[in-house]
Amino acid sequence: MGCDDVKRIIYFFLDGTLAETKRLDISKHLTLCPECETRIRIQKRLRDFVLRRLAPVPAPQHLKIRLSRSLRAMVVGLL
Ligand SMILES: [Zn+2]
Repeated sequence: MGCDDVKRIIYFFLDGTLAETKRLDISKHLTLCPECETRIRIQKRLRDFVLRRLAPVPAPQHLKIRLSRSLRAMVVGLL
């Protein structure tokens, strides 16, 4: 496996959707290639960051109720 191969499947590798054999290939390559090792580390950090940002934060129930009440009050006030 070469650097180009790693670049091509890096997302699948990080997703954990890569076949076991390919994963081992990448791991082997990473021990030999500091460039790809760094690339994967950066991609992983970026990915984790984005995923954390995108993860839906469930609003607490009381907040939802308060929000919908004040929304209703606002709508009623406008009518
Ligand atoms: Zn490489």
